[in-house]
Formats: sequence, C-alpha cells, structure tokens
Amino acid sequence: MKREWILEKNHISYWLRQLRKDRDLVGPLRNEGKDVVFMTVEQIHEVVLDLPASLPSPKEFLFPQYESMLRFNVSGKVPVAGPGAKTVSPGACVECSREGDLLDLADRRRRLVFGVRSCDVSAVRLLDRFFLEGFRDPYYEQRRKNILFVSIVCNNPDPTCFCIGLGTGPYLEEGFDIQLTDLGDRYFVQASSAEGIRTVKDMSFLFRRPRKADLDDQYEVFLSAKARFHKRISLESSRRAILEGRVKDSFWRRVTERCFECGGCVYECPLCTCFTVADRRYPDAVERIRLWDTCLFKGFTRMAGGILPNGKRMLRTKRWFYHKLVHYPEVFDEFGCVGCGRCAVTCPGRIDMATIATEMKGLDLDGSEQRP
Ligand code: SF4
Ligand code: SF4
Repeated sequence: MKREWILEKNHISYWLRQLRKDRDLVGPLRNEGKDVVFMTVEQIHEVVLDLPASLPSPKEFLFPQYESMLRFNVSGKVPVAGPGAKTVSPGACVECSREGDLLDLADRRRRLVFGVRSCDVSAVRLLDRFFLEGFRDPYYEQRRKNILFVSIVCNNPDPTCFCIGLGTGPYLEEGFDIQLTDLGDRYFVQASSAEGIRTVKDMSFLFRRPRKADLDDQYEVFLSAKARFHKRISLESSRRAILEGRVKDSFWRRVTERCFECGGCVYECPLCTCFTVADRRYPDAVERIRLWDTCLFKGFTRMAGGILPNGKRMLRTKRWFYHKLVHYPEVFDEFGCVGCGRCAVTCPGRIDMATIATEMKGLDLDGSEQRP
C-alpha cells in the first residue's frame, strides 16, 4: 500500500541527519574529478540531486565490484565463512587467530541510499528477481535486507535517458521504498514498502498530509518531466526484429567493429550481473573472491580444455543484446534494460541500447538497411 506526505525542504537535512544515526548514509556526491558518484555522505549539504546519472550505478551496494566470499588458513582447518555459515571446524581464524571462531564475511551494514533514480529502483526490482528467485544468493540477500532506497523523480532527465518508453521511470507507481518528487519548496513523499512507511512514520512530526494543491503540483511536475524526454524508444520492436530474423549476423559484425571490449557498458549497467570467482593466496591464508566480469570478454565462457564457445567478438556482442532483449523477457517478462542511458555515456563506440535498438528498427526483412 502506498502512503503520501509532504516534507518541507528546510526539514530534509534534519531528517537525513536523524536517519544517519541508524544507517550509513550514501548519496550522490561530486568526487575530485567532478564525476557524480554514490559515496558515504559526511556533509549533507554536499548531496547533489539535480545531476547526471551516477557512474557506476548504485547496484554496487548490493552486488559490489569485489567481495570476499570466504577465507581459510593454509593449514586447511579453518572455517569456511560467509553469509549463512553455521558451522566451524576446529582451526584458527585468519582474522582473530582464535580457535573455532567463525570468520563471517557478511556485510551487515545498514545503509540508506539517498537520491537514486527511478530507473535504478526498477533495476533493483529486477536484480532481486535474478539473485533471489529460485537459488537465493546469500551475499546479495544479506545486503538487500539491510538497505533502504530513497529515490527521487527525475524532473530533468538526461539527454541519454529513455526510461519513459519502458515504464521504469521517471516516476514509479510502486516498487520503491521512499520516493520524493521535488515541488520547488517541498517534497512530495511517497512510501510503498513496509520499511519505507515505517521510516517516514518514525519521524511523522516532520511530515504533513498532502493537500489538493500539492497533488496538483505533483501531477504538473510529472507531466513536464515526461515532456522533457529526448528519447522515446520502444524495445519491443527491436525484440520483434530479432525474433522475426531481421537482424542478421552482418548487422552484429558492423556493430562489433565499433567495440573496444573495454567492458564499460557492462560495468555501468545497473542490470548486468556477470561475475567470476577467483582464489587469492596470501602467506598464511587463501581467500575466495567474487568480482564483476563481462560476457563481452573472450574468456568469460572458457571451458575446461580451453574451448571458447563464444570466441568471436561478434557472437559476444550479439549475446549481450539477445540477453537483454530476448532472454530477459522470456524469463522475467521484462527487458534487461531500464533505459538509464549509462551505456550511451560510457561507450566510446556508440554501442548503447538506444542507438542499437534504433538501428535495428531500420532493418528490412532480409537484414539489409532500409533506404529512406
Ligand atoms: S543497457 Fe544501457 S540503458 Fe539499458 S539499463 Fe543497461 S546501461 Fe542502462
Ligand atoms: S562500452 Fe562499448 S566499446 Fe566498451 S565493451 Fe561496451 S560496447 Fe564495447
């Protein structure tokens, strides 16, 4: 059930300071290079909301670029540890050296991630399905239950944004914890998760019920945000082009010629979940880590014996788009893209979802390009 309030802007710093007592506060800040990055907020006035999308996306707080899965000492006696580990073999913990201690590497920090965009909230909803439906990923699950997102409706979408055509932004009807709409001197506050509602109610003295004028203003802001989108792209016609066989390998070869295999698109995408697992050896211990990988890299699917099923670059590019445009809808009934536009910002070869989806629409039934 969704609940609605109004928060005067001069109360927001106080509200965030109070919330910070119970959680690590993370928000969009300018780093030294002037990029927008989600970082721990020390000074609340430094949080900047009306800025381009952060790079990388806030997925790193649920699925970090690098995480330790377990450690054991070289004698091989020590406990495997990680989220959900229950038993401990006799041995010495590499962290504290006491026998039989559980070395629990779970990240239990309670976080409030403030100022995320609606498209990123939509991406988290899909990440939840990927990591928690069927097999439940304990590392993801541990972080997920300790995180609260406060999102902000994008009144001024970036030129690269196209969430509007996918229903993943700039405003969400449901599926968020707390959603703010900037009404100038006040925020229209909506909470839809139980934790979001509880968080607002805990400081209900800061909030008031919306009046008709607030509801009218919120609707006006929403309409004007919708009108500001430069891109209106439907991925459905691209999906159909693939399924109808209109997108031939010659198309993917042309696209791939522009790819430098830097992996930037995948790392910045809020929905890409490829990872690899590696073991690291230290003088007294071994650590198993999980780190981001990408299906665009040649070695990603290397098999025992060195076989590379997707050794050709063209096949890997094609797979990335097939995964998002065909496989995701088959499995989750939604596209593996929320229209955040980060791939367009990142890719030096203009291989981004909006560009490629548009190029696909120009393909004729035989896979050749249509001439106007
Ligand atoms: S494919 Fe591109 S536009 Fe779509 S969610 Fe990923 S980074 Fe954003
Ligand atoms: S960002 Fe562009 S160049 Fe880099 S791997 Fe992705 S598609 Fe290729």
